[in-house]
Amino acid sequence: MTKAGFMRKKIIAGNWKMYKTPAEAVALVDGLKKALGGQTAVDAVVCPPFVSLTEVSRVLAGSGIALGAQNLFWEAEGAFTGEISGPMIKAAGAEYVIIGHSERRQFFGETNATVNRRLKAAFSYGLKPIVCVGENLAEREAGKTFDVVKDHVTGSLAGLGKEDMNTVVIAYEPVWAIGTGKTATAAQAQEVHKFIRGIVAKLFDQATADALRIQYGGSVKPENAAELMSQPDIDGALVGGASLKADSFAAIIKNIA
Ligand code: PEP
Repeated sequence: MTKAGFMRKKIIAGNWKMYKTPAEAVALVDGLKKALGGQTAVDAVVCPPFVSLTEVSRVLAGSGIALGAQNLFWEAEGAFTGEISGPMIKAAGAEYVIIGHSERRQFFGETNATVNRRLKAAFSYGLKPIVCVGENLAEREAGKTFDVVKDHVTGSLAGLGKEDMNTVVIAYEPVWAIGTGKTATAAQAQEVHKFIRGIVAKLFDQATADALRIQYGGSVKPENAAELMSQPDIDGALVGGASLKADSFAAIIKNIA
């Protein structure tokens, strides 16, 4: 419960990146369903590659585990070879979509402007966006963490209305902690989460900021999840590596539930 009396349900999402064939994806969610046994204390989301969305959606039906995609293109359809649109993702059974992951910013030219276009597209097709922000190692070492995070948050959310924010989840992912085994300390993460909530309060209002769920991402594992999640402004996790095995992803959820 926050000071203002808001209950923010924790949300743990697994970003499978470019791992798992459709058959492997089905095996993983089968294992996850068994391991989680229909728990509802925490919102659990899995984000497999596009080619597995439909099949995973079928296996997840009635399980209480939600489905997400890892990206979307902003046009609904057209001559955009290799792209996948919001309506296609929605029709495949997904409820969430990750937008602006640092790997997309780093390797695929994603900018705040393109993140913003994808975000607006997600709303128009009824998908709930998980928007990623966070500094890299050079930026942290140069003392620019707060400048970079502010730039990502304000740029990504530009032009949004308060009502849009109801479905947004922000994931703070320090790039130096992604896939490196180096987790931000609970105090380091909390400091940035609180800062993000403050920016959202200024951009929209305090009630919107209080209701916003902010995930931490960066080498979250069963051993460190509970301490991170016990921080007042950390409302869940975006999990890469540890989401690729049913037992470790389920253990993260159980350790905080
Ligand atoms: C991620 O891909 O968003 C992530 C946080 O990865 P990992 O948990 O492997 O650091």
